[in-house]
Amino acid sequence: QLATNNFGEENILGKGGFGEVFKATLDDKNIVAVKKLHVQHGRVKEEFENEVKLISDIHHRNLLRLLGWSREGSHLFLVLEYMPNGSLDQFLWGSKRGTLDWNQRYEIIFGIARGLAYLHNEFHVKIIHRDIKSNNILLTDDFKPKIADFGLARFLPEDETHVITKFAGTLGYTAPEYALQGVLSDKVDTYSFGVVILEIISGRRSTEVTSDKSTSDYLLEHAWKSYEKKVHMEFIDMTLDLNQHQQEHVMKIIEIALLCTQSPVTK
Ligand code: ADP
Ligand code: MG
Ligand code: MG
Repeated sequence: QLATNNFGEENILGKGGFGEVFKATLDDKNIVAVKKLHVQHGRVKEEFENEVKLISDIHHRNLLRLLGWSREGSHLFLVLEYMPNGSLDQFLWGSKRGTLDWNQRYEIIFGIARGLAYLHNEFHVKIIHRDIKSNNILLTDDFKPKIADFGLARFLPEDETHVITKFAGTLGYTAPEYALQGVLSDKVDTYSFGVVILEIISGRRSTEVTSDKSTSDYLLEHAWKSYEKKVHMEFIDMTLDLNQHQQEHVMKIIEIALLCTQSPVTK
């Protein structure tokens, strides 16, 4: 049972598109995170049901667990495992900027890769997250990553490599073929993951990198490149202050991490 006195300003962990996430206590002992949504929005109901259906059956150490859910009046509640270190973006350009060492960064990259590989390869249909970004990667007390926020996730129909659908996601992280033509496949997540890798390594926001051009120009310009190549090209640009040895090392990490998302699943 949830104690309702937990939902005060002082317990807010984060705010999203349609509601807030609170730190709360379950059965007076276990600390959990509760995502509270207001049902007036048609889209909220859809996102909520989507999130519940998709993640209630998923158990993987790099995917945020849904512990339960309830509906009370005009509010919907998702009970999620609590992630003490919050979202990854705070460690890249937010209040905790610069505090992750290189080992932690590699671990985070590989953890996300494992989580994505599971979503894409473990079930008879592929699950596409559609909103992979630093703000949706949460960290445990020992800085292990878990992919969160399945509100936009979709199944790919069995035996289909892609579907054509209306764009949803976050600009700056979106694969060009999806932003421009609505082509949705698991590559959309891989592309966003590539952007996240760049952010983790450079400590810079994806949008900052492209701030001198409009996003659509940027996407068009890069549409012809393979994702791997894109990551390599931009990476060189961003790491001029690293020495040759460090650069080569990190290039390998990127290569392996992107390969991991296509390889057999590891738990
Ligand atoms: P939205 O769908 O509205 O984007 P999210 O599920 O991404 O909501 O959560 C919004 C923010 O709340 C996250 O970026 C994070 O900072 C915080 N948050 C969400 N879930 C948790 C959790 N389980 N533990 C700690 N903080 C969380
Ligand atoms: Mg989110
Ligand atoms: Mg969401």
